[in-house]
Amino acid sequence: MTIAIIGAGMAGAACASQLTQQGQQVRLFDKGRAAGGRMSSKRTELGYLDLGAQYFTARDEGFIAQCQHWLRDGSIAQWQGRLGRLEKGAVIASPDNTLRFIGVPSMQAPVVALLKSAALHTGCQVDRLAFDGKGWQLFSDGISLGVFDQLVLAIPQQQAEPLLREAGVIDTELSAVFTMPALLPCWAVNLELASGPWPYDGIFGNANSPFSWLARQSSKPGRCNGEQWLLHFGAAFSQQHLDADSRDIAGYAIEAVQQLAGQTLAAEMTLCHRWRYAQQNPLYPRYGMLHRPELALGLAGDWLNGGRVENAWLSGVQLAGELVR
Ligand SMILES: Cc1cc2nc3c(=O)[nH]c(=O)nc-3n(C[C@H](O)[C@H](O)[C@H](O)COP(=O)(O)OP(=O)(O)OC[C@H]3O[C@@H](n4cnc5c(N)ncnc54)[C@H](O)[C@@H]3O)c2cc1C
Repeated sequence: MTIAIIGAGMAGAACASQLTQQGQQVRLFDKGRAAGGRMSSKRTELGYLDLGAQYFTARDEGFIAQCQHWLRDGSIAQWQGRLGRLEKGAVIASPDNTLRFIGVPSMQAPVVALLKSAALHTGCQVDRLAFDGKGWQLFSDGISLGVFDQLVLAIPQQQAEPLLREAGVIDTELSAVFTMPALLPCWAVNLELASGPWPYDGIFGNANSPFSWLARQSSKPGRCNGEQWLLHFGAAFSQQHLDADSRDIAGYAIEAVQQLAGQTLAAEMTLCHRWRYAQQNPLYPRYGMLHRPELALGLAGDWLNGGRVENAWLSGVQLAGELVR
């Protein structure tokens, strides 16, 4: 069976890895310069900067086994960042026993490890799909990428919908998964501070703060040294300022860290990134994955399975199991 997978984030990579182990012929296409998707760290002159996923946890037995494998091959490490949280305007310690993992030297390392021997085409945006009742033809910029027995879409909900709509395959069942937005936006700003006044490596915001997370990059191996701090704005703030200028967003980020520190801090923006489709809408239902054999179509991704890296992996693995059943 020939299988095309669009999207080489954690879900697509997990699906590809399982299918390849079962002897299927898999080709992956990703519009990014490399695999990783929302786990990608940005390579800069200063070192890697994590702008998307910050760490991941493992609760499912299968995913725990996968993490142990990655720990052995060195593509992930445990992150022992000191954690704090904002409460009544002050930052207090927030220790817990949860094991947190990070990719090494960058977040996408475990995705890259899954795809070590995969047929991966990067820098390739699939912009048109055609279904002839039996198989799928993929196109990029008017050029055919081939014809496949099965298609897996492992891309964010809001990017999958227009492709399937144009292909004319959206029926009642598919339309149900596209009714409510599954992924909400997030503005990410990396700031260089003259000094980091907090005795923490990661600070959780709360419902009253515009930011949801602030983290010291240098607490992770392979990342930038010095006082490089990543700030994520919450979904409500990010939605409200979705089309704002990045300089304005950087200004809000500087204001937020100064307020948190209770003092004026010398701060400069290193990078600013808008994630249009970032983290899970808590109201969105959980499907796990979607398999439509009569359409030779599967959908996988964090958004179908509750969000987060672990659930993206589980969604991809679950879909692979369905495809070879
Ligand atoms: C700001 C932010 C913070 C986060 N923090 C955490 C965290 O701390 N812990 C945690 O567990 N999770 C976190 N997450 C969520 C985590 O990153 C995701 O759950 C996970 O990476 C999703 O994997 P995926 O494979 O489902 O999707 P993605 O990683 O989005 O992969 C989809 C891939 O599809 C490609 N693509 C899209 N459209 C096309 C097309 N038409 N043609 C070709 N390629 C295409 C994209 O380039 C991308 O590589 C965070 C996410 C963001 C954005």
